[in-house]
Amino acid sequence: MSARVPTRHPALRVVPFIGALIGAAVAAAYVLGDAEAVAAERLEIPWWVLLGLFAGVEVFVLHVQIKREARTVSMSEIPLVLGMFFAPPAVVLAARVFGSGLVYALYRRQGPLKLSFNTALNAAETGLALLVFRAVLGDADPTDHLAWAAAYLGACTASALAGLSVTFVIFLFEGVLRWRDLRAALLKGVPMAVLTTTAGLIAASCLVLDPGTAWLLAAAAVIVVIAYRAYASLSERHLSLERLYRFSQVVSATPEVDEVMRSVLAQARDLLRAEVAELTFVPTGGAGLRVVLDSEGVLQRQEADLDDTDWLWRQVVARNESVLMSRGDKDPAVVAHLAARGMREAIVAPLRGESGVVGLVAVADRMGSVRTFDADDVRLLETVANHASVALEHGRLVDRLRHEAMHDGLTGLPNRAALESAARDALVQTRVGASPGVALLLMDLDGFKEVNDTLGHLHGDLLLKVVADRLRTHAPETALVARLGGDEFAVLLPTTAQVDEALAVGRALLASLEEPASLEDVRLEVGASIGVSVAPVDGDEIGALLKCADVAMYAAKSASAGVVAYRRDLDGHDPAKLLIATELRRGLADDELRVYAQPQLDLRSGEVVGVEVLVRWQHPERGLLLPDEFVPVAERTGLLRPLTATVLGEGVAACARWYAEGRVLGVAVNLSPRSLLDPDLVADVEALLRLHQVPAQLLTLEITEGSVISDLARTSGVLQQLADLGIRLSVDDFGTGYSSLSYLSRLPVHEVKVDKHFVTTMAHDAHDAAIVRSVIDLGQNLGLRVVAEGVEDAGTLALLTELGCDLAQGYHLSRAMPLDELPAWHDAHQAARAGAGFTSQRPPVTPLPQAGATIL
Ligand code: C2E
Ligand code: CA
Ligand code: CA
Repeated sequence: MSARVPTRHPALRVVPFIGALIGAAVAAAYVLGDAEAVAAERLEIPWWVLLGLFAGVEVFVLHVQIKREARTVSMSEIPLVLGMFFAPPAVVLAARVFGSGLVYALYRRQGPLKLSFNTALNAAETGLALLVFRAVLGDADPTDHLAWAAAYLGACTASALAGLSVTFVIFLFEGVLRWRDLRAALLKGVPMAVLTTTAGLIAASCLVLDPGTAWLLAAAAVIVVIAYRAYASLSERHLSLERLYRFSQVVSATPEVDEVMRSVLAQARDLLRAEVAELTFVPTGGAGLRVVLDSEGVLQRQEADLDDTDWLWRQVVARNESVLMSRGDKDPAVVAHLAARGMREAIVAPLRGESGVVGLVAVADRMGSVRTFDADDVRLLETVANHASVALEHGRLVDRLRHEAMHDGLTGLPNRAALESAARDALVQTRVGASPGVALLLMDLDGFKEVNDTLGHLHGDLLLKVVADRLRTHAPETALVARLGGDEFAVLLPTTAQVDEALAVGRALLASLEEPASLEDVRLEVGASIGVSVAPVDGDEIGALLKCADVAMYAAKSASAGVVAYRRDLDGHDPAKLLIATELRRGLADDELRVYAQPQLDLRSGEVVGVEVLVRWQHPERGLLLPDEFVPVAERTGLLRPLTATVLGEGVAACARWYAEGRVLGVAVNLSPRSLLDPDLVADVEALLRLHQVPAQLLTLEITEGSVISDLARTSGVLQQLADLGIRLSVDDFGTGYSSLSYLSRLPVHEVKVDKHFVTTMAHDAHDAAIVRSVIDLGQNLGLRVVAEGVEDAGTLALLTELGCDLAQGYHLSRAMPLDELPAWHDAHQAARAGAGFTSQRPPVTPLPQAGATIL
């Protein structure tokens, strides 16, 4: 077994060691002298056959993936063992040195240092193996079983020598030698050495019995090589997908530009098993910028000598195409480019931004140096480039936005995000005992709306600025004063645990507002109400503190009490919310909820394949209400269960009716995050499907990205149970949360719905288009069905079809309609398609899924 130096840098420190290896090989050759082959009377293998075999095993190497490390191993023990038996030692040595050496030099184009080291090591290894073999065998007959032990021992010592030598060379480069590495190096190659030695011994035994079996052995070798290649390319493809997946995970999780670049490069290198990965940004006047990831994982920035007369520029940037420069490419431009950059092979793909190509991403020099890059690799790099473009654009945006994100534009005060982040930090200090507690004051101006309405927004804004100034000057030094929006302010006291102390601060702040505010021509008196909550008593999370302070503030306002601290008994005193909850309860009882359906189109066949059902409330006074107005109320007040039950029940019942008419239309129902925590959900759904005799796979349950992710531990079990029933799960509003497709791997989901905000704008907004393209790409790579919702025009529909999206839904096709109207609409749609000649002339009814097998 031979191993190779994994470095590219010439280092003179290795030269003496190479000398030592050569010395050892020469000594071995001297001791072995001009001895005969041990089994010469049976068969003598000619030198050129042996040389061919040694060369062959270097060409047809095995790629072994051990954990994350890709290793290349050759089966050099096979010719070695044959040589031990059937050739004089001097011939074996020479055949090994020249056979392998030719392949290294001509086929793998190894540099002089690498070539000399590998060749010297081969010579030393072979010499050692032959010495051990002959020493153990002694005068015994080569057909004796002792010869097997001799061969195993010889091959294993040689393998250990190789492992140690490589470790030693790494030590020469890096200066550290760890015992762990040494032991691993000694043992790593031995199992493979035993395996291939066994193969060699089998071949040798056959040849001893009958030299004619050589033909059989050759045929067997060819078959094994072919089978292995097929297997290896399959498993490599699988690995690539997995890596791609990990990559998308990383880039979508790290918005900062540098972080994104680092992960793009690291993953591109990993994914394509390249030694070099770099990003080049196209010059906009002046020199370009090249960002390279060095071996320590640090980004190095260099000037790039790329200009618009450059060959590569013209290929990639102007033509917006990738370039594959494989080893052995004869194109003089390619040869010149590779030589100029000191590379063996490379792929360069364009990074497409909003304004066309913004740069290049390149990988070069495949590791293991056996297989060069091919068309599959080009596609892989293009996918990486697509994601990288999106992530980079996104990262740049985030960097800019982050700057503005923490402050309120009008008053210059920190905003809600800043408050929440500061509160989180303070709460951590409390939790670890570094601070006694945290107090939060929430303030709302009295009569601000009237100011705005009677004096206008200008005065409203001026008033807010005055209030902001007063709060800033009168709040304690350690306090954080923030504007949460509108006329709502908050003050965070990061080290206050005493309610009295917080109330005192609140009263002082109110006092500071007593002096009327002069706004240009008018003087205004401002009043305010303040609610106080304190951690850890009222909660140890910012969300809980805000809620409690809100309740307290509301109480303060309704009692005109100035400052009020939160108490339990204040809860539930929000008359506005209460009103609508009772209303909704009544509406549910009076059967006022309506279920609407919006069709979904299969973009490949052009047929309607299902609907999403959406709830409405036919309110006797207020007319048809949309879910955003009442679903949140249902969620807060325990009415979610009856609401969900209504929608699910009507949806599945409609599905069953349509199914009985021969309309195979799936039904997608929206679930609230809280429904997933309902312990009866799975049983209810199962009973419903059984009641209506609907195949489970016609039911899709839509859940939002955030809801699943926020409580994965609790929800994933439920999702798995639903999936086990055969129900399809869809991730709704994808792209709005912080998660990435990566999370989906942990869940049994079948579908993603690209959020409508990206879809409605994609025809005009390149960034949104890139996001949609990227979700389609990655989603399908992961075997998910991708649905685009919010398709409002024909242009978008065409674009989605072109991008290979699976399903589309939106106003362009139809708005949501009452369930009962769907069959007529469906007939009309099909008739229109047939009339326009679009139909595939398929009968309107697709074959029903096999009954029994799938019906619960
Ligand atoms: P969603 O699940 O994202 O539903 C899609 C929303 O987009 C629907 O609004 C739909 O009418 C609207 N829409 C459809 N096509 C287009 C289009 O081309 N352009 C635009 N701009 N919008 C389009 P809707 O019906 O108001 O539903 C709002 C949200 O309420 C839904 O968002 C869903 O999250 C929730 N919801 C609806 N029904 C239910 C339900 O039964 N249970 C629960 N828990 N939530 C529901
Ligand atoms: Ca939905
Ligand atoms: Ca949605």
